[in-house]
Amino acid sequence: MYQKFFDKIVSLFFPRRCVICSKEGEIFCKDCLALVTLLDNSCCPGCGSYKINLPGEFCSICKKELHLDGLISAAPYNDPLIKKTISLFKYPPFAKDLAKSFAFLIISQLRLQNNKFGEFILSYIPLDRASLRRRGFNQSKLLVQELGKELNLPVYTLLEKIKKTKPQKNLNKEERKENVQNAFCVVEDAKELVQNKKIIIVDDVYTTGATLNEAARVLKQAGAKKIWGITIAREF
Ligand SMILES: [Zn+2]
Ligand SMILES: [Zn+2]
Repeated sequence: MYQKFFDKIVSLFFPRRCVICSKEGEIFCKDCLALVTLLDNSCCPGCGSYKINLPGEFCSICKKELHLDGLISAAPYNDPLIKKTISLFKYPPFAKDLAKSFAFLIISQLRLQNNKFGEFILSYIPLDRASLRRRGFNQSKLLVQELGKELNLPVYTLLEKIKKTKPQKNLNKEERKENVQNAFCVVEDAKELVQNKKIIIVDDVYTTGATLNEAARVLKQAGAKKIWGITIAREF
């Protein structure tokens, strides 16, 4: 309630402006969105092999080391427009608008492909309780809700974060893996639901894949059949 009132006051004095070009109206305007280069997902996201059945699917060799079956990322993280907008995604005045813009980018990416994800359900990487309380929202949840509307797929909270982790960005590949190990569990209400399901987990950035892969491990251990990741950006 207080947040809504606060948002209204803010928008009265500070009309929404595009954080890239300053045009009034949207936080990430359509003209600037159109300048983002979409990633090519036609090869294995692990090793770059073209021997795959679907865009974004991990090849049979990479799959041996992963729990994640595939990954679709909309754009490269080093695109300055993406880097800037993702850095603002955690902050309340931008989050809702940016979730819509990022969903639009992801949908544009999915339109380039044959993979329709028809039988999938959608979920997201959870925050730990303290972070969620501090921030008041989970930006990946906002994004997945927008995607659910656009793709007409159901959205569920499947995972809970049970361990406080360090920010991944300061860690190397091995440390990242260790950092997120046993960080998630399947929420009690979803244990039945995940059985034999094909699930898409949404996150903001894919770097080494440690987080999405750990989420996939936990979901598969609980009985899920296939796990794909969808992210706004991918860092190489
Ligand atoms: Zn703009
Ligand atoms: Zn591969």
